Amino acid sequence: MKRTDLRNVAIIAHVDHGKTTLVDGLLRQSGTFRANEQVAERVMDSFDLERERGITILSKNTGITYKGVRINIVDTPGHADFSGEVERIMTMVDGCLLIVDAAEGPMAQTKFVLRKAMEAGLKPVVVINKIDRPDRRIAEVEDEVLDLFIELGADEDQLDYPVLYASARKGVATYRLEEEGKDLQPIFDTILERIPCPEGDPDAPLQAMVTSLDYDEYVGRVAIARVRQGTVRAGQQVAVAKLDGSVAKFRAAQLFGFHGLKRVPVEVATVGDIIAMTGLEDVNIGETITDPENPQPLPPIKVDEPTLQMTFRTNDSPFAGQEGKYVTSRHLRARLFKELERNVALRVEETDSPDVFIVSGRGELHLSILIETMRREGYELAVSKPKVIYRYDEAGNRLEPLEELIIDVPEEYMGAVMEALGIRKAEMTNMVNHGNGNVRLEFIIPARGLVGFRSEFLTMTRGYGVMHHMFHGYGPYRGEIPTRQRGSLVASETGTATQYALYQIQERGTLFIEPGTEVYVGMVVGENSRGQDMDVNVCKTKHLTNIRAAGADEKLLLDPPRKLTLEEALEQIADDELVEITPKSIRLRKQYLD
Ligand code: GDP
Repeated sequence: MKRTDLRNVAIIAHVDHGKTTLVDGLLRQSGTFRANEQVAERVMDSFDLERERGITILSKNTGITYKGVRINIVDTPGHADFSGEVERIMTMVDGCLLIVDAAEGPMAQTKFVLRKAMEAGLKPVVVINKIDRPDRRIAEVEDEVLDLFIELGADEDQLDYPVLYASARKGVATYRLEEEGKDLQPIFDTILERIPCPEGDPDAPLQAMVTSLDYDEYVGRVAIARVRQGTVRAGQQVAVAKLDGSVAKFRAAQLFGFHGLKRVPVEVATVGDIIAMTGLEDVNIGETITDPENPQPLPPIKVDEPTLQMTFRTNDSPFAGQEGKYVTSRHLRARLFKELERNVALRVEETDSPDVFIVSGRGELHLSILIETMRREGYELAVSKPKVIYRYDEAGNRLEPLEELIIDVPEEYMGAVMEALGIRKAEMTNMVNHGNGNVRLEFIIPARGLVGFRSEFLTMTRGYGVMHHMFHGYGPYRGEIPTRQRGSLVASETGTATQYALYQIQERGTLFIEPGTEVYVGMVVGENSRGQDMDVNVCKTKHLTNIRAAGADEKLLLDPPRKLTLEEALEQIADDELVEITPKSIRLRKQYLD
């Protein structure tokens, strides 16, 4: 059966290239919303953290009806740390909508996700967006897109992609630049014409792979899946072919399709439909919903192995439990194991201590997002310094995880960035000068070289740099990376300011120094004026987020204190320290060793 009434398309774009604005426009113009109904919330980024970090963590589905054809648009997560998810999404769709900013051109994220789409053999439609920008460079950007397709090994069919020109902001698109657009109809029509219809046998045994999970207070776990073959009705018995090879049977309580941003109940789903299903108690991502009489699991999708691990533990400091809602090891355990259900690249291991868990994931950002999410939910915990996971080849040589790193920076910061990356054992593999003041640099870098790099990079490029990375593979260990030195306050020649600062550290655990105050850095010796052991102070001075490497007796100007971010804490943490995470603060402290 050919589903001429259905198209499934993934939407791919670098952050800020206009994905959300375009989907908003498509929703409005398809009449999926009634005239008096507002698109209350911006379509895709509903999760706070995603909006702040400008990345999409969980993929979302939007359903539009146009000329009697249902178009399911599946958003792709922008960050490469969740690459297993990108690959799963590619199995749900038959084509992709590639959105590229008319001034910026294809960026790192465009490349990473497009590569997955090409590998999955999807048919692309290219939309050059923001053609209303005064600094647009449409012809060049089109060339860059073509270069990218060639670089990614697109086949003839994929190279024959249509290009449309759009201003998502104005809600218009055209086939030719000279034309004046009046609506987004060219995009709708191109999707119908160029994205293949789903095909399959509706009478074959049911097969649908669970690509994501959701939770609903009332109905429990909701599985999102695309029907590969067969047909399923609400209320019918289905089997779930589990990843461990077993088969469990459930009743598919309810089925939903996507209408706009809402889920609407449907009675039956068949070949190509993307559905949400309730009633499957312990279904997991990657498992197949199949025929109970004739279970036929789909091949499982490969998920990249974790490359970085940290210990998560209950906060055992004397002040523990004052700021968090969830503080016990039971809370922590339950939350981590729940996370495993939908965060497929994550691993959680228990240890001899019920308070300590080893959590492994796909890089620093992957773990940071989990920590930050838990913090916002009211958890209080402590985490150790992240460590990369090594492997060994047959000869016993150490291998380490390497990442592909793509950086876009204004030319003037290129030297500084290359130097900083050199220290971190990165090897440059490509450099493109776009001639518009920006340079793209590509590297292969040890994963450990990236720990803490993001905040250093943003400071170094004054916020103008953009970086993205993706797992490359394991390779020979590249040798030690020197750790950044930290200065610490000197207590000997204490002027009043330093005295006062130390007092504050002691009393409040945080150092407040007026902007412009000078303090000396160097090794701290002895005890402070109140006879307290200075070691504690040395540790706590790390609350200063801008302490850089400095020699003894060197003067350091400190900026006004500000809160430590998780990235900064992870960058500064030493082996014998923990980062204490509470809903109110993030701070470093010495580990209380038994
Ligand atoms: P996303 O991160 O890909 O979802 O991008 P958004 O849709 O959030 O858009 C990022 C920014 O670009 C927002 O400030 C939009 O208003 C702006 N934007 C989106 N489309 C256009 C366009 O066609 N022209 C111009 N000038 N700006 C646009």
